[in-house]
Amino acid sequence: MAIERVGIVGAGQMGNGIAHVFALSGYDVLVTDITQDALDAGRATVERNLDRQVSREIISASDKDTALGRISTTLTLSDLGDTDLVIEAATERETVKTAIFEDLVPHLKPTTILTSNTSSISITRLAARTDRPEKFMGFHFMNPVPVMQLVELIRGIATDSETFETCLEVVENLGKTASTSEDFPAFIVNRILMPMINEAIYTLYEGVGSVKSIDTSMKLGANHPMGPLELADFIGLDTCLAIMNVLHDGLADTKYRPCPLLTKYVEAGWLGRKTKRGFYDYTQEIPVPTR
Ligand code: NAD
Repeated sequence: MAIERVGIVGAGQMGNGIAHVFALSGYDVLVTDITQDALDAGRATVERNLDRQVSREIISASDKDTALGRISTTLTLSDLGDTDLVIEAATERETVKTAIFEDLVPHLKPTTILTSNTSSISITRLAARTDRPEKFMGFHFMNPVPVMQLVELIRGIATDSETFETCLEVVENLGKTASTSEDFPAFIVNRILMPMINEAIYTLYEGVGSVKSIDTSMKLGANHPMGPLELADFIGLDTCLAIMNVLHDGLADTKYRPCPLLTKYVEAGWLGRKTKRGFYDYTQEIPVPTR
């Protein structure tokens, strides 16, 4: 099936990155969010990131202008009805996602493929709440989308092979590489990554090391490009907590218990880079560890 118009729900860090890569690859993109501020901030981020690619000579100035010209925004979810592929990239909360699908489905063409960028929630369960479980799957980009090569594709139990093959072709058109995961909590990347981040937060919580010593240990001792706490701030602590809760609930194993310190940070609204405070304070040019 030919995909030309792509709808994206959510203009946050993932939604704007997804819009960026689709527009650069020649797709027409329509992005929706719940506030005009979110749409404007998302567009400004796309523009900034395209500028960075121009200055690094990854793309030309005219590529940038053409890509920006392919991205439109709307506050009306039903405007996405005319797209061929929808990628939902709203907040990692199942009630938010199911409400979006319920509102959107009556407006979709029968052929539209519906996908979620969820980091952890059951694709089969999300699909079952729509009118098209066979045309529904997980389309999981990594952050930051314009930079990261991988896309995890997750088939729900009912996903048909045409839908899977179409999404695989889209990933290839974006110049990215797909990996395939079965539909189990948090799939592959986050099943492995998130318990490590959670353990780093326990290490901090128990006073084994400071923010700086934990991140330095993993950067220099395990050759990770970013420390786990720095990475948690980058992902968003609300998203990290949501994924740990999905692992804990879905696999019913206490080894996935979210660290109470992570819960406390989220309760405080300290969500990492996006709120300028998490394990680091981002109000100055160089991030300052908070513990
Ligand atoms: P974010 O907080 O940056 O953005 C979420 C956006 O969704 C916000 O702009 C919010 O206004 C919008 N939103 C909320 N409810 C909405 C609704 N009903 N309709 C339209 N928009 C709505 O979060 P994010 O980091 O971009 O995460 C989005 C999704 O991507 C989540 O499912 C997350 O698990 C997944 N994801 C995140 C990462 C990461 O590293 N942050 C990586 C891969 C996947």
